[in-house]
Amino acid sequence: MNSNAQHTNAGTAQAAAHPVVGRFAPSPSGRMHLGNVYSALVAWLSVRSQNGRMVLRIEDLDERCRRGKFDEQLIADLRWLGLDWDEGPYYQSDRLDLYRDAVRALASQDLVYPCFCTRAELHAASAPHASDGTPLYPGTCRNLDADEVARRRALKAPALRLKVPDEADPAGIITFNDRSYGTVSECLATDCGDFLIQRSDGVFAYQLVVTVDDEHMGVTEIVRGRDLLGSSARQIYLQNLLGYNHPSYAHVPLLAAPDGRRLSKRDRDCDMGELMACFGTPEKLLGYLSHIAGIAPDSSPRSVDQLVDLFSWRAISIHSADIVIGK
Ligand code: GLU
Repeated sequence: MNSNAQHTNAGTAQAAAHPVVGRFAPSPSGRMHLGNVYSALVAWLSVRSQNGRMVLRIEDLDERCRRGKFDEQLIADLRWLGLDWDEGPYYQSDRLDLYRDAVRALASQDLVYPCFCTRAELHAASAPHASDGTPLYPGTCRNLDADEVARRRALKAPALRLKVPDEADPAGIITFNDRSYGTVSECLATDCGDFLIQRSDGVFAYQLVVTVDDEHMGVTEIVRGRDLLGSSARQIYLQNLLGYNHPSYAHVPLLAAPDGRRLSKRDRDCDMGELMACFGTPEKLLGYLSHIAGIAPDSSPRSVDQLVDLFSWRAISIHSADIVIGK
């Protein structure tokens, strides 16, 4: 079921002439807040200003994001804003075979191993943390022998981890250009360590599924919040191993409340219900948002189509810090 079906053919025909493909990739764990609207708006403006195509992918693998909870609301909110798409919605829960195949392809390179560590062990206070706050994996289960693996498997199901190259190996230094943040370089061994590709409950990990989907959906540019900047190196490493294309990256600033605290879905900060009640029309909300984001010179009401004409990456890239919203 896809009420955007009429766009789909046009989108496909356009694809040949305009190879830019962007995506919305929301995890519907709650209603969108102003920060989510901001990154969706920039992703959409970037694609539309290049006559590209937009894909909507619902990232629903985690139990907090399961289909039927917030996805329909999220789709209605995007429509209300006028942020349309040409393909989808795709649901990750419908795509498990693709993720399984990718795990198999990585395992065939002898890069995957079972990990039996508990969350408590991983969060041991002394462990250094990766750039996204997850503990740097110390390699505890990397070299377990077959007997030990069998013994532990009988007691509990393992997660699966992907080996990253040793610190001295240039394959483990990932450098890329981010449209907002410039040249970014990460050493996988010291910045994240061997990382999860499947959890012990069988759920495929974010880094894996996002990489597989971006490739299979032909995504050429990734625009998302700065909280995911630290994930890009792992995704590029996966692209290298799986022989995928490399999309371009742009990580946009996050929005913060006047007290400096980042907006969050959990706190139901400025969610779409509140924003609709407060602004009344999408044009008023978008006018306000595009002004604080530096896209528009003032906060006059503007539609998404009017904003396409004003959009330039120059306005976005000068914001390397969080954008603090009005009092
Ligand atoms: N689903 C992720 C989120 O809502 C974003 C994934 C991505 O853009 O790579 O935070």
